[in-house]
Amino acid sequence: MKHILIVGQGIAGTAIGFRLMQRNLNVTWIDNQNLSNASRVASGLYNPIVLKRMRLVHLADAFNEQIYSFYKSLESFTKNTFFYPKPIYRVLHSIEEQNNWYQLSENPKWSTMLGDIVNDNNIKAPFGLGTVQQTGWVDTANMIASFRERIKDKVLDHVFVPQHLEHKNNGYEYRGVYYDAVVFAEGWKAAKDNPYYPKDAFRPSKGELLTLKLDDRDTPNRIFHFKHFLIPLRDGQTYRTGATYVHGDLSETPTEKSRIEMLESLKTIYSGKTEVIKQDVGIRAATKDRKPMVGRHPLHKNIYFLNGLGSRSILMAPYLSHLLTEQMLNNGDIEPSIDISRFF
Ligand SMILES: Cc1cc2nc3c(=O)[nH]c(=O)nc-3n(C[C@H](O)[C@H](O)[C@H](O)COP(=O)(O)OP(=O)(O)OC[C@H]3O[C@@H](n4cnc5c(N)ncnc54)[C@H](O)[C@@H]3O)c2cc1C
Repeated sequence: MKHILIVGQGIAGTAIGFRLMQRNLNVTWIDNQNLSNASRVASGLYNPIVLKRMRLVHLADAFNEQIYSFYKSLESFTKNTFFYPKPIYRVLHSIEEQNNWYQLSENPKWSTMLGDIVNDNNIKAPFGLGTVQQTGWVDTANMIASFRERIKDKVLDHVFVPQHLEHKNNGYEYRGVYYDAVVFAEGWKAAKDNPYYPKDAFRPSKGELLTLKLDDRDTPNRIFHFKHFLIPLRDGQTYRTGATYVHGDLSETPTEKSRIEMLESLKTIYSGKTEVIKQDVGIRAATKDRKPMVGRHPLHKNIYFLNGLGSRSILMAPYLSHLLTEQMLNNGDIEPSIDISRFF
């Protein structure tokens, strides 16, 4: 393989494109940012634990292993900083949760991820805050924009039309240019527009989040998880809180209901004043079994996918893009639970 076409330059298209460039392939992207802004509005958190239920994410260890080196090399490629490894502090809601925390942190499977229970004067958490390690956040808007700047000569900024893709020899021709392989990474819009995808695999979900200022006198500077997250941003003045999960509404407009939900939830841990600066909306490309879809098309040779990253794209993209690269170049295996062929 020499020349690869990637459709989409969100988190998925950035990750797979970067991996393929590192293997000296010629990569072209087609990306029109008006179709989805999920990757640019995301909170960017990564965390191998489902904090609400205290369960490990499927393949957590494999995801953890790739994160640091991947985002560090992406930072050095783009000559920018957007990767912030940091603990997350989970608000414990009861004595039972406290006991459960102590028990889990003695289990060897969890011990590297769960740290001490601590307090923070700015936060209402009478049962303490459990420290979660191997977590942090990525400033996704900055990452996508700085990568785009580095590859701008290789991006075609228009809407990809699947019907214009023609199978030729072993690869595909699109608008007169030959590609050895095509990777689809268009996020949730693919569900409607791209017939190469399996039918009925997506379950997109709308998410909203707020950027806000908190009372100057007592501003927390850690990442907290309560019902939602509170994340201090790099400017030292603003925070993000959210995100909501709404099913069945794919309109990309902010709602008052979500704004109230997030502010009410924040009040349970923070009693200072808040001032909303902005409310963002995006649609997550989730799948019906909540696992990503990766790998080659079972029928169309040299068509590949990296999609269905749901709410954990930052955690999963480094490992999944590594797997996909290995499949494309060395016929590597993809484990069945995340292989797109399970939906065909
Ligand atoms: C409010 C909110 C908060 C979130 N918080 C987090 C978080 O904290 N951590 C986390 O890991 N994830 C988070 N997510 C999820 C994350 O945003 C998504 O999983 C991720 O952005 C998906 O990336 P993607 O590249 O697959 O798709 P997208 O971000 O949708 O990118 C696809 C790109 O392809 C383009 N495109 C689509 N179709 C075409 C076409 N036909 N022609 C040309 N271009 C096309 C789109 O415009 C876009 O630029 C959050 C999502 C939301 C909405």
